Amino acid sequence: MQDLELKSAKKSLSELGIQNASGVMWNLSPAELVEQALLNQEAVLTDNGALMADTGTFTGRSPKDRYIVKDNNTSESVWWGDVNIAFDEEKFEYLHQKMINFLADKKLYVREAYAGADENYRLNLTIINTLAWQNLFCYNMFLRPSVEELEHFESNFTIICAPEFEADPEVDGTRQKNFAIINLTKRIILIGGTAYAGEMKKGIFSVLNYILPHERNVLSMHCSANVGEKGDTAIFFGLSGTGKTTLSADPNRGLIGDDEHGWTEDTVFNFEGGCYAKVIDLSREKEPEIWDAIKFGAIVENTRFYENSRTVDYTNKSVTENTRTAYPIHHIKNAIEPSIAGIPKNIFFLTADAFGVIPPISKLNKSQAMYHFISGYTAKVAGTEVGVTEPKTTFSACFGAAFLPLHPTKYAELFGEKMEKHQVNVWLINTGWTGGPYGVGSRMKLKYTRAMITAALNGELDNVSYRKHSVFGVSIPESCPNVPAEVLSPRATWSDKDAYDRKARELGAEFISNFEKYKAFATEDILAGSPNL
Ligand code: ATP
Ligand code: MN
Repeated sequence: MQDLELKSAKKSLSELGIQNASGVMWNLSPAELVEQALLNQEAVLTDNGALMADTGTFTGRSPKDRYIVKDNNTSESVWWGDVNIAFDEEKFEYLHQKMINFLADKKLYVREAYAGADENYRLNLTIINTLAWQNLFCYNMFLRPSVEELEHFESNFTIICAPEFEADPEVDGTRQKNFAIINLTKRIILIGGTAYAGEMKKGIFSVLNYILPHERNVLSMHCSANVGEKGDTAIFFGLSGTGKTTLSADPNRGLIGDDEHGWTEDTVFNFEGGCYAKVIDLSREKEPEIWDAIKFGAIVENTRFYENSRTVDYTNKSVTENTRTAYPIHHIKNAIEPSIAGIPKNIFFLTADAFGVIPPISKLNKSQAMYHFISGYTAKVAGTEVGVTEPKTTFSACFGAAFLPLHPTKYAELFGEKMEKHQVNVWLINTGWTGGPYGVGSRMKLKYTRAMITAALNGELDNVSYRKHSVFGVSIPESCPNVPAEVLSPRATWSDKDAYDRKARELGAEFISNFEKYKAFATEDILAGSPNL
């Protein structure tokens, strides 16, 4: 076991300016961290062996409190705006020092880990946590160096995450008490005032989304990935909740990763060492791989038990809809390690179209692929307000604008180059509504979505007939193994055909108006992929 005897006495935080009197625990094993988390009363144990933790006020990331330090190095390269909010260099120094002082009398859990399965493109992280369960989260989600590697581990990026530490907005220049600040030059992320562990994961993702395309000509992607027996890689782009994690866990294919990958000249590699899956309404029947991954070592976040038991009730939404589990990738039986495979043969764009307009599966030509990649469409279903059933469109460039420090055109260019160079099939998959919009129709059955993806991967859609969608122009297969033919045509599933046509044109118009801001950068070729009203 690589976990044993790692408490190397030589290691010290003083290089990072941290003088700590209360004890620093380096690279604890999962069992030790579970023990610490329970002793500290940070978390409780579930009857499946997983640790259950609450993340407090924040049950998701807080995008408005995520900053990037603006300095000589980043002022020209970062795409500043609502997503990449500039933070003052000196204020960062001040806050950093304040955090270091804060840590002096705290019990600290420190972990050394990699981000990036390909050793040519990885970051060597030192992660400093005040909470043991968060350090376990990092064990699960980042890559675990071997005992030998830890002996010579040279860190080149630091995360300091102290949920109990709150900023003073007046003095520190933050919006609120909580913050996640990335300093790309000093190579530090500071997180305070929030215990949502996903801030660490997505913070490092943002860093790699800067470094890899900017400095290494590697396309970084918000996608999941798996690989077939013949070595055929598939990647699945999509915004939150569209099915990246769910659909990449496929018993017949090796899992590469569920969320963050890089595409080099000849490989696709995972940035992470684990998965972070939604568990709302999780069932063993529908998602056996994820269900079985929740065992000792895994963490479940913001879930609740059935009364008088330690059995997790996955239907319980009383804390949040965004209940999650974090587990190391080897909890999935057919995960491949190292998480690296060849360049993709099939690319899937996942969208949860709550209007029920987008076909459940369609094939895109190169123009449409570029157009949909840049658009990054999905829909959010209505909130809890009574009587409000109308969903809302969400467009997020490259299916991940929230994590992209560079202008979207940088990622789009790399994506276009790679598509040009390699023979890739690009598919658009609607995991959202069928038979009408949200409130009228129902969510596409998971087993149908899986069957469509399997058919595409096995080449079973290569020789069927296709017809073009009236508005989006994408090619819809007229048959697909294990899927009733009527499911394939969204218009056929609506009882009111005129209503469908109207909705399709409305959605097309939203695509076009969203694309206005990219028109200046887009070629004629890309614009040829736009909907036709
Ligand atoms: P994130 O980026 O937040 O991790 P994600 O893209 O990984 O999001 P998933 O965790 O895979 O999203 O969530 C998809 C959710 O939708 C799961 O809870 C899954 O059970 C549910 N679902 C229902 N129907 C389908 C379908 N047809 N295809 C995919 N997922 C479906
Ligand atoms: Mn996911």
